[in-house]
Amino acid sequence: MELEFEKVEIEGLDLKEVSCKTALSRSRLEADYALNPYQGCSHGCEYCYAPYVIRDERPWGTFLDVKRNIPKVVSQEAKTKKKGLVRIGSVTDPYQKAEREYKLTRRCLKQLSKNDFPVLIQTKSDLVKRDVDILKKMESDVGFTITSLDDDFRKTFEPNAPTVAERLSAIKELKEEGIPVWVFIGPLLPYENDGEDDLNRLKETLNSLDVEEIYLDKLNMRKGIWHKIRPLLRDDLEEDYRDIYFGDDDYFERKRGPYSEIGKLVF
Ligand code: SF4
Repeated sequence: MELEFEKVEIEGLDLKEVSCKTALSRSRLEADYALNPYQGCSHGCEYCYAPYVIRDERPWGTFLDVKRNIPKVVSQEAKTKKKGLVRIGSVTDPYQKAEREYKLTRRCLKQLSKNDFPVLIQTKSDLVKRDVDILKKMESDVGFTITSLDDDFRKTFEPNAPTVAERLSAIKELKEEGIPVWVFIGPLLPYENDGEDDLNRLKETLNSLDVEEIYLDKLNMRKGIWHKIRPLLRDDLEEDYRDIYFGDDDYFERKRGPYSEIGKLVF
């Protein structure tokens, strides 16, 4: 199952093809296994926690390790491992740019489908639409992350990720194909994307697409994330953020009520 094309070039990305020894790793995150065909993520979200999870010190959004042999490893493991739910994209987006050419996620899905493993996918990309043919044949559900309806927010904090309109159109298409879809609104950045009107409009839009399952999470601050997002915040917000994250403002406790009107909180 070797790839039959040349190494892919993506502008601004130091891309390496690597081999993996294991593919389906044990998970405790609402699934039995985690599967990540890529290490690194070209969406380059400014608030991304992934570098802290995988402890990779390379500048996030500038590199990508492509696990070239992962479909083959999945095909072997799926024959021997106990069946269980596989979370695809537990750390990085399985439908980022490189997937268009490499099709590693698609090839892994085929193997999992053949061996009756259910999957749960989390993505920000409309590229998932390409794999509807496989997803329809297996037990699957897809979660989209949408942080705001405002594409300027997306441009600032998720500069290389698909637009909001592209994600909404993908949700519509998957729902029409009968694939269960849920939405994760997160991270919520105080005063940036968590205004009551904005969240209500987002909820209404999702409900109009028949998405009823909505989850919300707040931005968890780390030193590295603070350095990245501080210059991107509106000028008047730095002091508020210092109070919320480094002072004694119980902002997120006060927001529990309003956030709960939108969906289930995961914090
Ligand atoms: S899509 Fe997810 S993994 Fe990729 S940069 Fe954004 S937050 Fe990180």
